[in-house]
Amino acid sequence: MSDCIFCKIIAGDIPSDTLWEDENVIVFRDIDPKAPTHVLIVPKEHIVTFADFKEGQGDILLSMSKAARAVAEAEGVLDSGYRLIVNNGPDGGQEVLHLHMHLFGGRPIGPMIKRAE
Ligand code: 5GP
Ligand code: ZN
Repeated sequence: MSDCIFCKIIAGDIPSDTLWEDENVIVFRDIDPKAPTHVLIVPKEHIVTFADFKEGQGDILLSMSKAARAVAEAEGVLDSGYRLIVNNGPDGGQEVLHLHMHLFGGRPIGPMIKRAE
């Protein structure tokens, strides 16, 4: 998608700190890290939310899982633990409308979400 920032990163038009990739997925560091390790696991295809996978795209999900393991291991957080988050839509806090899984690690990540007021 021409106006999508992550598609531009995948195309190499915008630089990124890429840590891992295969034919389905790319992993790069978040530009505004919230933890010592904060990377984004991104399908190369322009899929908008986690609910938009279609039949035949199971290999992309498997690549996302492989990417999470490989990067967690490379970053030294596989045993200490890490958190995976996918924000979906406005209430989910999704700012970039190209599916991505955040991986946070390198310190205790804290409580899961704030309790509703
Ligand atoms: P969301 O809120 O959509 O789940 O997260 C979007 C994430 O993308 C944010 O954590 C933000 O810092 C990151 N981000 C936005 N633009 C760029 C960029 O151009 N490069 C990189 N590496 N990360 C970006
Ligand atoms: Zn895109």
